[in-house]
Amino acid sequence: MTVDSPANQLTSPFDLPDQDGYEWLKGNLHSHTSNSDGKPSPQERLDGYVGQGYDFLCLSDHYTITRVDSVHCPDDFTLIQGAELHPENPFGGQRHHLLCLNIHEDMDSTKMPPQHVIDTVNEQGGAVFLAHPHWSSVNIGRDTLPLNGLAGIEVFNTICRCAGRGESSVHWDDWMEQENKLYPALADDDTHSPESENRDTYQGWTWARVKERSPQAIVDALVRGASYSSTGPQIRNIQLKRVDEEGDEQRVVEATVECSEAQRIVAVADKYGTEYRGNGNTFDNATFSLRPNARWTRFEIVGPDGRKAWSNPFDLTKVERG
Ligand SMILES: [Zn+2]
Ligand SMILES: [Zn+2]
Repeated sequence: MTVDSPANQLTSPFDLPDQDGYEWLKGNLHSHTSNSDGKPSPQERLDGYVGQGYDFLCLSDHYTITRVDSVHCPDDFTLIQGAELHPENPFGGQRHHLLCLNIHEDMDSTKMPPQHVIDTVNEQGGAVFLAHPHWSSVNIGRDTLPLNGLAGIEVFNTICRCAGRGESSVHWDDWMEQENKLYPALADDDTHSPESENRDTYQGWTWARVKERSPQAIVDALVRGASYSSTGPQIRNIQLKRVDEEGDEQRVVEATVECSEAQRIVAVADKYGTEYRGNGNTFDNATFSLRPNARWTRFEIVGPDGRKAWSNPFDLTKVERG
């Protein structure tokens, strides 16, 4: 059977073994300081995430780079240099919110077309993620499809949740379906407040699977999809295998998911999806068949308290028989 495989194969973090030196690092890629509209100073913001046991952080102030050498960072913590840039939107929607990671030179993004901003970030070796599209009322077809070179999307944003628009999974699915291309996601705080307000701190994070604690290795892992996003649950493993017989009309893929205690798992596919609920009890592993002939699937793990984790999408057209 010929299928239109999605463009852009991602790397499953669960296929990168401990014995090869890979480890999980927890981080927040989106935060603001007193260099833009955040309350705490860059040092206070960094100290907060260090104190909470995170491994990496980006001080992504609006319009300008907050330099990593302007703060004192512990040796075993990785500060990724970046900024949130806001080129105008020539396509009709609101001004863009582009989370730009691992960049070194400032640019006047307000005077540049969005494609020029994306190209300049990529030329600097950085990566551009679409920030909080639900909150910014992004219409993927109108505002995002005309752009090339974006790395991925924020599926969750803590401060946007305060406005009821924290989750952008529908935009993510819409984007992947319209382009037939897989994009990795991030969950971020987009922290503005001091942690004493307990408003937008330490509630959305991304786990990256890396061999090395450098900004480049972490951003590479995020771009390749060797990561997952969470507001609580842990995803320990996801393995896929094809279970239909040779010559069958339909491609059937079975998923095995290991996770922290969950009440349900949703496998969202390019069309429709599949829900696994156990038998009414919570569980920490599940094996179930996905919707036949789906091209890609991503998993949402829902914990007992309703908090979620989001895997990156898997290309189901390339899954092999077990
Ligand atoms: Zn923003
Ligand atoms: Zn922001």
